[in-house]
Amino acid sequence: MTENDINQLIERQMHEWPFAAQQYEALQQTQCRELMVDGSVYRIQYNPARAVSSGAKVDKATLAKRPCFLCDANRPSQQEGVAFGADYKVLINPFPICPKHLTLPTVTHTPQSIGQRFGDLLDATKALPSYVLFYNGPYSGASAPDHAHFQAVAKGSLPLEQQWDSIERRPLQQIQGASLSYMNRALCPVLRIDATNKEAAEQLFATLLHTLEIKDEEIEPRLNLLLWWNNGAWVVWVFPRNSHRPECYFEEDELYRRMISPGCIDMAGLIVAARQADYEQLTEEELAQILREVSLDAAHFFQLIIQLKKNHD
Ligand SMILES: [Zn+2]
Repeated sequence: MTENDINQLIERQMHEWPFAAQQYEALQQTQCRELMVDGSVYRIQYNPARAVSSGAKVDKATLAKRPCFLCDANRPSQQEGVAFGADYKVLINPFPICPKHLTLPTVTHTPQSIGQRFGDLLDATKALPSYVLFYNGPYSGASAPDHAHFQAVAKGSLPLEQQWDSIERRPLQQIQGASLSYMNRALCPVLRIDATNKEAAEQLFATLLHTLEIKDEEIEPRLNLLLWWNNGAWVVWVFPRNSHRPECYFEEDELYRRMISPGCIDMAGLIVAARQADYEQLTEEELAQILREVSLDAAHFFQLIIQLKKNHD
């Protein structure tokens, strides 16, 4: 798979799949506004088509009953896939958040997990240098936690791409070909791996994955990953998460309910509001509270940093 194959796929699908073409057309008309939170600009996008995902029930019983939309057998006949290696396909996402929005599901129906697939995610990132790749963990925004997949959007789509690149980071671990650092932000702490060597990136990520806490009966730590390839090196942002959805998502009083269901795109500064009231009424204070609740809290993040430093010394 080359990036050219993908650009041609997008072009073909816009001609051959009217539903998807209509969704991408509608995306151009979406309203956006900005909020300043924790020193960063967050863009709020009113995107009613995303109600399917923002409102998705992801409990085991619901998943078992619904036909999986990432399995070949259940996908719309017009949705074409391009092979990425033997194990993945590249599809266009028919409910886009950004002008070029891809989904990369595994060929087989198997649970979302990153431990054995981080190397594949690095490969996909290198193969698509004009894109930002991302991974939503099974408890952190994936709307199909039962079917492994990555996603990608065109570079330049997410507000924090540029903003965060310039923020100072503190070093944690350094090995030949890769380094691990962190940014100490008040609301959503974040770690970063910079790597020129794939094995070195995998080694640092494995260390991080094993240091992060796993909640009862879950298969991996709660997290989102955001990656890009730039000048011969990978950049990997890791957002450790506390919860998938904030309390206000479940609020019974309609006045205070905010159906914001953050995945990686939201953590990277593009907040998707599927309901008009949420889009219009969301305040800076509410957004700060949402980001604080869904991110790993400061005390646990501090413990993580200490642990990672200790492992290295
Ligand atoms: Zn499936």
